[in-house]
Amino acid sequence: AKRENPGFHAFFDGTTTRTAQKRLLLEIDLRRAIDNEQLEVYFQPVVSLRDNHIIGAEGLARWQHPELGPVSPEVFISIAEESGLIRPLTETLLDKAARAMSDLSRRFDTPLRLAFNISATQLNQAHFVEETLRALDAAGLAPEAFELELTESTLMQRVGEAPRILEKLRERGVSISIDDFGTGFSSLAYLQEIRAQTLKIDKRFITDCTSNQASAQLVRSIIAMGHALDMQLIAEGVETAEQRDLLASLGCEYYQGYLFSKPLPIAAFEALLVHTRMS
Ligand code: C2E
Ligand code: CA
Ligand code: CA
Ligand code: CA
Repeated sequence: AKRENPGFHAFFDGTTTRTAQKRLLLEIDLRRAIDNEQLEVYFQPVVSLRDNHIIGAEGLARWQHPELGPVSPEVFISIAEESGLIRPLTETLLDKAARAMSDLSRRFDTPLRLAFNISATQLNQAHFVEETLRALDAAGLAPEAFELELTESTLMQRVGEAPRILEKLRERGVSISIDDFGTGFSSLAYLQEIRAQTLKIDKRFITDCTSNQASAQLVRSIIAMGHALDMQLIAEGVETAEQRDLLASLGCEYYQGYLFSKPLPIAAFEALLVHTRMS
């Protein structure tokens, strides 16, 4: 197989750990996958808790490695962040996702929203704002239909510059969403400075909100705080009808999760839209 190249092995000396070697090999393959457009974007529906309608989707990266099978995004996104591949990766996936969503919005004659994950390191990338807006424009997706997701924990590591960069995007109509909320340590003051429109409640709180009083109380507090700051809430990782009903009763606006649908290939998401619009 292709790993048997002796010159390749000789490249590693005894100090390189197996994990580091594996990562390096994956990085090489990832680079190739990006170049050959082998990365896919899946859409997980975002659903209104009011009427159970799909309002849009979150785009999630997928990589089917030719030998290893599917590689978890947790693994290859972190490799991409550390190797500088995150920029080309984001470029190709954002392009695919934005084109698909603008297409579907037109086909279904309804404004569907695209939520997309951006690594906080990318906020410092030269021309990040301009390139993002240009990508949306090229895909025919209105900035108002685009929601940029940043995780709370990574945002906290870049307190200084983030608000200013995000402000530029907001001025152009893009909305900002704070992902995995509840796992970082943002202060109310910082939340206000970021001026996100949406908070996504991390799935670890949703998982046991119907079985654990403390989690339920936390979810309740996050929703109250979000509303006090004029934000909308999305619950992630909703797997049971009980969780969904509790969230609805607490005034949470939207949800995502296996209860409604796993992340789907774009064609399957489209089929789901056809199905739910007909019913
Ligand atoms: P995330 O942004 O918090 O995405 C939500 C994760 O929860 C996704 O995992 C999704 O498949 C999973 N999920 C959704 N509903 C449920 C549920 O009901 N139960 C459970 N157990 N899981 C559910 P996924 O796709 O493996 O992505 C993992 C993480 O990788 C994402 O977490 C995000 O941080 C990162 N990621 C994925 N795609 C991209 C991308 O294109 N760019 C960047 N920068 N990060 C990405
Ligand atoms: Ca996300
Ligand atoms: Ca999340
Ligand atoms: Ca996450």
